[in-house]
Amino acid sequence: MIDLRSDTVTKPTKKMRAAMAAADVGDDVYGEDPTVRALEDRVAELFGHSAALFTVTGSLANLLAIRSLVPVGSEVLCEAQAHIARAELGAHAAVNGVTMRTWSDPHGRIDLGQIETLVAPDLGPFLVRTAAVSVENTHNFGGGTVQPIAALRALQELAMSYHLGIHLDGARLWNAAVATGTSLREYGDQADVITVALSKGLGAPMGSLLIGPRETIVAAREWRKRLGGGWRQAGVVAAAGLYALAHHIDRLVDDHANARLLAEACGVDPADVETNIVVVPCTDAAAAVSVACDEGVLCSAVGPRTLRLVTHLDVSASDARRAAEVLSRVVSERP
Ligand SMILES: *Cc1c(COP(=O)(O)O)cnc(C)c1O
Repeated sequence: MIDLRSDTVTKPTKKMRAAMAAADVGDDVYGEDPTVRALEDRVAELFGHSAALFTVTGSLANLLAIRSLVPVGSEVLCEAQAHIARAELGAHAAVNGVTMRTWSDPHGRIDLGQIETLVAPDLGPFLVRTAAVSVENTHNFGGGTVQPIAALRALQELAMSYHLGIHLDGARLWNAAVATGTSLREYGDQADVITVALSKGLGAPMGSLLIGPRETIVAAREWRKRLGGGWRQAGVVAAAGLYALAHHIDRLVDDHANARLLAEACGVDPADVETNIVVVPCTDAAAAVSVACDEGVLCSAVGPRTLRLVTHLDVSASDARRAAEVLSRVVSERP
C-alpha cells in the first residue's frame, strides 16, 4: 500500500530506532533526562528563542501555547480552517476557557484586512478582548500553503500596535523553511510562541515542541504536568527527534517534488503545490478514496468533493510515480 493519507503515518527508520535504543535517559519530570534536554536546547536555539518544551503531541503544545498568550475569557483570532479551530476537538474552549473568531482564506493565508477588522483590543467590559492571533505555517487544510514572510512581518507590526501575542502553529514549519529558504531563526523572530512537530514530515514516531521565552516555558511545564503530560524517560523518544533534525530536514525537497508530480497527474496546477500536500477537487471524494484503495493507494477525503494527498518519508519517488498513475485514472473517471 502507498499511504498518502498523512505524513503522520511514517515509521521510524532503522537508524532512527538505533538512535532511540542508544539514548541516554533520566526522569524528565525531575528535569533529568539528558536527551530531552538536548532536544529542547537544540530546538530553542534553532529558532533563536530562550527555551523549549517537549510534548507528546502538537495538540498539547498548541494548548500550552494558546494558554500562555490568551487569558481565560478572552479570545484568539485564527483562520477558519486552522488546526486549533477544527482538529483539536474544542480543547481551547474546553480546557483553556478561551473563545475564537476566525477570518477565511481559501488557502489559509494571513489576511491583514480581515484580521484588523476582527481585532477588539480592549473595548470596555462589554466585548471579548482579543489577546492573540494564531497563524498556521504551512497551512494544513489550506493545502500545505506557505505564509509569505512579508505577511508574517506585517502581522507582527499589527500585533505590536494592538498589543496582541502571536502564536505560530508550525507543525510543518520545516516544510515552509525548505520550500522558501527562509531560516528557522527568521520564522522564530515572527512569533512570541511557536509549536513544531517531529512526527509529521520529519518522521519521528511522536513528539512536538513548544518554543518561547523561558518564563513561558517554565509555566507551560507546570501546566503540562497538571494535564497529565509529564513523562519520565522520554529521552527514548527525544532521540528520534534529534535524529530527525539531523537527517530528515533537507530531504523534504523530495516530498515537495513528489507532491508536484501527483498534482500534475490529478490535473492540479503544480504551481499551486507549495509543499507536501495536494488538494484535489473531484465529484465524489469518498468513492475515489475507495477505488484508489482497491488499487493500492490510500488517500483521504477531507470534504465531500475534496481529496487530500500527503507525501512523506515513506513514499519514494517510484511510489509517487505509481500512485500518480493510479490517481490520474481515478480522478479522470470522476472529474
Ligand atoms: C498535526 C498538526 C498539529 C498537531 O497534531 P497532533 O496530532 O496533536 O500531534 C497541529 N497543527 C497542525 C497544523 C497540524 O497539522
